[in-house]
Amino acid sequence: MISNIVVVGSGVMGRGIAYVGAIGGYSVTIVDIHEAALENAKREIDAIFEKGLVRGKISAEQAEQARRHLNYESDLSIAAKNADLIIEAVPEKLAIKQQVFEMMEEYAPTHCYFATNTSTMSPTEIASFGKRPDKTIAMHFFNPVHKMPLVEIVRGLETSEETAEKVRQVAVEMGKETVVIHEFPGFVTSRISALVGNEAFYMLQEGLGTPEEIDKAIKLGLNYPMGPFELVDLVGLDTRLNNLNYLHAKLGEKYRPAPLLEQYVKAGRLGRKCGKGVYDYLAEEVVPK
Ligand code: NAD
Repeated sequence: MISNIVVVGSGVMGRGIAYVGAIGGYSVTIVDIHEAALENAKREIDAIFEKGLVRGKISAEQAEQARRHLNYESDLSIAAKNADLIIEAVPEKLAIKQQVFEMMEEYAPTHCYFATNTSTMSPTEIASFGKRPDKTIAMHFFNPVHKMPLVEIVRGLETSEETAEKVRQVAVEMGKETVVIHEFPGFVTSRISALVGNEAFYMLQEGLGTPEEIDKAIKLGLNYPMGPFELVDLVGLDTRLNNLNYLHAKLGEKYRPAPLLEQYVKAGRLGRKCGKGVYDYLAEEVVPK
């Protein structure tokens, strides 16, 4: 039975996953190597609770109970000891994921399931770092996690049916809809989203229109809920560039990152999390890292 979940990485995604886990009735420990990131996560999760209460999405009793289910820890070797499921949400860099999965393998009990929140990478390759490929899978959450209804569950080559069904049930308890698919770089969602987002940067680079005009055309003409620039500012331009670099290496030319996107990242325009991306944000609109 899965009752204790550890979330590794307390950034944009990790804190959201921790929140929906606690609301779903799990005991959740969030781990991050940076104390400042844990502090930010605590503040951000409190803000989600407050908004949920004000908007009547959760009751005071639910919030109280979920808050008691949340723990914060900077040492994965301690947190992993009692884990039934570990969900990794560290940056989209294979070397970092490898280091985290090797630690998970060393310290987690043998019954523990491993999930990666990678947007694009191979759960089979990530599973090879943890040495329990039958119990490893991708659980791809979406940003912002507490609002987005889907978890895209991606089986690796050796993921067992039991693992797929166990983590699917966890996602359902977290209040999510699921699709369970087979591995391919970018899965369903990142493959489309990266392509559309990258094309928008090429359009901007070509001087087709302003970001506002391109976003408006996509929203009102194609019925997308957000424009590609609004979305990339939320996702993080650095995260999007990492995804594109990976997809470019795996799937070829059509995913070559737009030079303008690379320039924005070099300039530190990483999106809402740092107050400026394609658009500039007021202090109260910033979603801290
Ligand atoms: P982020 O940069 O906001 O957060 C990553 C966190 O991991 C940081 O707080 C960092 O301190 C921490 N970290 C780094 N190394 C660590 C380690 N060794 N141990 C513990 N913590 C460590 O990143 P994010 O946007 O939350 O993305 C995390 C993962 O989720 C990536 O694989 C990304 O591709 C995926 N993802 C992101 C989005 C999105 O919209 N941002 C959506 C879906 C999936």
